[in-house]
Amino acid sequence: MKIRILGTALQDTARRQYASTYLINETVAIDAGCLGLWGSAEQQERVRHVLLTHSHADHIATLPLFLETVWTPAPECPTVHASQATLSTLRRHVFNEEVWPDFEALSERMPPFVRFRETELEVPFEVEGLQVTPVQVHHAVPTQGYVVREGDQAVIFGSDTGPTKRLWQVARETPGLKAVFLEASFPNQYQRVALASLHLTPEMFAHEAAQLPPGVRIFAIHLKVRYRDVLERELRALNLPNLEIAECERDYEM
Ligand SMILES: [Zn+2]
Ligand SMILES: [Zn+2]
Repeated sequence: MKIRILGTALQDTARRQYASTYLINETVAIDAGCLGLWGSAEQQERVRHVLLTHSHADHIATLPLFLETVWTPAPECPTVHASQATLSTLRRHVFNEEVWPDFEALSERMPPFVRFRETELEVPFEVEGLQVTPVQVHHAVPTQGYVVREGDQAVIFGSDTGPTKRLWQVARETPGLKAVFLEASFPNQYQRVALASLHLTPEMFAHEAAQLPPGVRIFAIHLKVRYRDVLERELRALNLPNLEIAECERDYEM
């Protein structure tokens, strides 16, 4: 499985993850925070499925731009997979004829822009040869992480979350788990902010990471750009043997 964290910052690209999109094997995206501002139209067109974790802007912001860029007069279109709650938010607040055209309704009358597919927690589905299972995490709006399996290997994308339990139970029961992408949004001194907004600090990150099976690679993601330097210091000070601080626009092979 090839995973790339998409970048869009024009300078210091690797260390500035302003918004979230994870590209798997060049054809499946998790979230669309920056997908629509990334790469060429041809690279975007290769992405056939978008798996949304939740409705926050840093995860959906460029979905309208992406869908417009990749549209062709062909009968095929990308599929967006998300929970009922996230789809409902998109329909009411984004594709509402005010912020953006109602691409779902337009797709009934002309070559389609998008197909929305509602996911069920812990019910696996297949996209592009990957088996994908949504698992609930603990964030300010309904949010799901994803267990993504290709053959005998699996990777977990935790999305935005405060302290959580079920995802780590699933992780311990997942054969061939190679890596977990786990957020570390705020420095330790902002623990109150992290608790209130349901994110993690490096200290809280360590508590979550301790619940993972041994030997799994742990990638720290979603480091708020403003606090990147202190977050990197605090994460390294945890001395977790399998920890890597993830960088944008680098390919990670599992
Ligand atoms: Zn969020
Ligand atoms: Zn976020």
